[in-house]
Amino acid sequence: MKGKRVYGGIAIGRAFLVMDVKIENVIKKENIDINKLETEIDRFELAHKKTIQDIEKLKEHALNTIGTSEAEIFEAHLDMVKDPFFIESIIKKIKNNLINAEYAVLEARNEILKTFNNMQDEYLKARANDILDVTDTLLKNLMGIENQNIANISTEAIVVAKDLKPSQTIQLNNYVKGIILEEGSVTSHAAIVAKAKGIPTLVGVEGALDKIKNNSLIVMDCEKEKIIIDPSKEELEYYTKIEAKQTEEKVRLSKYKNKKCLTKDGFEIKIFGNVGSIEEAKLVKENGGFGIGLLRTELIYMNSKHFPTEEEQYNYYSEIVKIIPDEVIIRTLDIGGDKMLPYYKFPEEMNPFLGLRAIRFCLKNKDIFKTQLRAILRASAFGKVKIMLPMVSNLEEIIESKKIIEEAKKELKNEHIKFDEDIEVGIMIEIPAAAISADILAKEVDFFSIGTNDLIQYSCAVDRMNKNVSYLYDPYHPSVLRLIKMTIDAAKNNNIEVGVCGETAGDPDFSIILAGMGADELSMSASMIPYIKDTIARYNRNELEKITSNVMNQSDSKSAYEALIGGKNAN
Ligand code: PEP
Ligand code: MG
Repeated sequence: MKGKRVYGGIAIGRAFLVMDVKIENVIKKENIDINKLETEIDRFELAHKKTIQDIEKLKEHALNTIGTSEAEIFEAHLDMVKDPFFIESIIKKIKNNLINAEYAVLEARNEILKTFNNMQDEYLKARANDILDVTDTLLKNLMGIENQNIANISTEAIVVAKDLKPSQTIQLNNYVKGIILEEGSVTSHAAIVAKAKGIPTLVGVEGALDKIKNNSLIVMDCEKEKIIIDPSKEELEYYTKIEAKQTEEKVRLSKYKNKKCLTKDGFEIKIFGNVGSIEEAKLVKENGGFGIGLLRTELIYMNSKHFPTEEEQYNYYSEIVKIIPDEVIIRTLDIGGDKMLPYYKFPEEMNPFLGLRAIRFCLKNKDIFKTQLRAILRASAFGKVKIMLPMVSNLEEIIESKKIIEEAKKELKNEHIKFDEDIEVGIMIEIPAAAISADILAKEVDFFSIGTNDLIQYSCAVDRMNKNVSYLYDPYHPSVLRLIKMTIDAAKNNNIEVGVCGETAGDPDFSIILAGMGADELSMSASMIPYIKDTIARYNRNELEKITSNVMNQSDSKSAYEALIGGKNAN
């Protein structure tokens, strides 16, 4: 079986299938005797109580591990399950129709789903999944089916699922050696968390739940993007050896945990982490990252029921700053494109990736922007915080944004609220227009961070989510290399710091080029931090520069990549 790699390596374990049991298929309508009516209602009430307890436990777990924004999902689930109208409608069905509680719950659920599906409001429509989640738990409790609890996995396992819900990803423990998902893209919530945790993961594995049996032995070779079910003795021996080497390598790399990233001749490159939740911030610290080079704030907006308030954002940002106070670069809202909000209707656009997204959206919605800026400024009282503007394409956007930042500062000052008055303001360079005019933009900002994910998408005109054209998504394209170099040179000439926070920064091959071009900081998924420190430590600065200049001299991406690998091997 084949899939798409989210995080590499070898994983061996017994399959733990997370089946979305189609519970409605096993529920039958049963008529109950009038004498048994009270017992049936008691049975429902007991299961209902247990469901509340189950959800409260999940909420507690989310609060302790991820933070308030993700815990809100479970708060909403509690609201649903405790809704008196919902409870009453089930009890009425049992009483009036003399039917079993399971069937009454199923009927109530179907009625609610029908109403939700007919709704125009996208946010409410999206709540249908929550209804399914909550009533599934209720039905399983009624039927005595234990919820498949990933948190209880206690032997080495490969989790196989259609996709993982947030309530499941937070429970992944150290026994989970690998993850196989039928759905899910490389940028899905489950994929991001799996990568940050360093769990070998393949997504887009069609038919995995049909072909893999629970408890069967699985080998995942994420380097070759393949899965072996019930491996032969030889295969198992071969992969066990590689897995052991992988573990040895992890132990060797742990020596970098408290060390800065230095070239062989002692030049430092800051190695930071990309973060979207409190859990990931903790993982950056555990993996030896001394800062956060990209805090993706859109996730708290996407997980919320409404635009998060200043207070909610302030609590979240300051919680993260307290974990890594040395430096946290907070990116302002990067919404639009493929990132939608369930409670907000974006304009219909032919090309959303070229549309009203990120800084463009914020400058059109200044109140939303200012609320976030005030929260970020307030969090700067707890450590070194920097503000980063996404998707900037011209100078005017920077000037206008800085005006709003000044307004927010003035307000806070008048209110006698503490913040860092010298907070740095930087921009992401992820649009070719910005890279080409980087020398102009550099005069207006304190730092650059190159977002190669989008820079590649826009310079090669390749939708980064589109499988059909993914072969053209090419970091080694001469134009991409030149745009990155131009940006780094412009930063150097204007004495401002320049980092890279796209996926290329955490690629052990590509990081050599970025270091060779003179990037001051590389920010990546937490699990890649030790690998990149190890890569950089192998070279003197002039060696990195030499390899890079060789790469830059090639006229196509294949030769550029070969020049890089040739340079690596020669060292
Ligand atoms: C990028 O574009 O490189 C980036 C880091 O931002 P995102 O992946 O969130 O668009
Ligand atoms: Mg981007």
